[in-house]
Amino acid sequence: MTTLKKKSEAAALVASLRDAYNSGLTAKRQWRINQLNALRQMVVDNESVIEAALFSDLGKSASEAQLTEIGIILGDIDYALKNLSSWLKPHKVSVPLAAMPAKAFVVSEPVGVALIIAPWNYPMQLLLAPLVGAIAAGNAAVLKPSELAPATSAALAKLIPVYLDPRAIAIVEGAAEETGWLLEQRYDHIFYTGNGRVARIVMEAAAKNLTPVSLELGGKSPIYIDDSVDLEAAALRIAWAKYLNAGQTCVAPDYILATQSVQKELESHLVTAIENLYGSDPLLSDDYGRIINDNHFARLSGYLKDGRVVAAGKPVAKQRYIPPTVLVDVKRDAAVMQEEIFGPILPMITVKDLDDAIDFINSKSKPLALYVFSENTLVRRAFTERTSSGAIGFNVAILHLSVPGLPFGGVGESGIGAYRGKRSFDTFSHEKAILSKPLKPETLALVYPPFTESKKKL
Ligand code: NAD
Repeated sequence: MTTLKKKSEAAALVASLRDAYNSGLTAKRQWRINQLNALRQMVVDNESVIEAALFSDLGKSASEAQLTEIGIILGDIDYALKNLSSWLKPHKVSVPLAAMPAKAFVVSEPVGVALIIAPWNYPMQLLLAPLVGAIAAGNAAVLKPSELAPATSAALAKLIPVYLDPRAIAIVEGAAEETGWLLEQRYDHIFYTGNGRVARIVMEAAAKNLTPVSLELGGKSPIYIDDSVDLEAAALRIAWAKYLNAGQTCVAPDYILATQSVQKELESHLVTAIENLYGSDPLLSDDYGRIINDNHFARLSGYLKDGRVVAAGKPVAKQRYIPPTVLVDVKRDAAVMQEEIFGPILPMITVKDLDDAIDFINSKSKPLALYVFSENTLVRRAFTERTSSGAIGFNVAILHLSVPGLPFGGVGESGIGAYRGKRSFDTFSHEKAILSKPLKPETLALVYPPFTESKKKL
């Protein structure tokens, strides 16, 4: 089933997935391996279909689709396949003297049926990456792609039932209404990626059944940059991270904090970096994306009045094109500084010094990522110790999500929970404690009443 016509169909769908889970099907190691391989096959067989869908939704080039969606999923699947045996091994823990002799273990068991809700900006990767964890951990799952990336949603809705086991893995297309119907059902984990407003709806629905949630959200991820770095080299890294997917990346740098003199120099390096990446007219570049829809185009265009625009060319509404833009002389209370930008506009905010930058960051919600471009170890340490964020990148942005051993997730308003690598497996698992103690010899006499005077003395 890929579309729901009424609420009762959501109930029937989730009930059938629960039956499959209860039958023990999904917990079998071989089923997990088969499904991960099938998911891999689905992606490999249909690379061109997926690339075309991503181009249609986001103007995403094939190379960028490979780098940020297809390649990431294939990497996640391979990592899970390679490590599954070790993740499934019972993990022995030591037993305190008072409880000996005994053996204690932790085993990871599946949680049951998962609901995975994805946004539009990396519409394939953000739907399938959590699925890799859900399958590896032995669960059934319902997938809800974003209606705002309709071509990718339709392509995946067609492919998933063909390649994956439809008894245990379902995909449902739709918008708020259909997601609402799905959210009324009981799950064992809900994994939501998107904005904080809908995250609150998800958490409220989950609370009714005490269902654990992962909320992968966004916010304004700052860059602090000082004059200890090679500003030309830094500008290229910043421009790549900011303008990838036309700025529609949850961990994209949102704004820059720098002193006035650093800003002045950085501005010209950013112009050169943009030209190096996308040519003198990015409108003509095959490698530069488009804004997802007219509403977001209008919202982003409105920000351009908040400062001096530095860009090669102008927005083109018909194409939902906004050039890679640097916004200079931006006031701290400007509209562009109130919400996550989520587009290719990079405001620069003047700070007096390091302390001013840290105070500014701490006056706002905890970011999903914070980037510090500085060679000064004291500066790096100050940000690590005096700010809180999902992640910190020193002299690099975005790349932390390619390291499977690093948890990927937010803190505070930027999210709850983390995933990637083993944490994806853990997210969809329950760690069960197992203690086994022989009946003889009896070593527990001391804890049994009656608590006689002689026992109390011991
Ligand atoms: P979106 O509009 O596609 O919404 C996300 C999902 O929520 C969709 O599947 C949609 O159908 C569903 N939805 C929308 N309204 C709903 C409602 N009223 N009730 C129930 N479900 C509803 O995507 P978005 O929220 O615009 O995504 C962008 C946000 O996501 C940004 O804030 C970005 O930073 C964040 N994001 C975070 C990550 C991360 O990994 N932390 C990754 C990507 C995006």
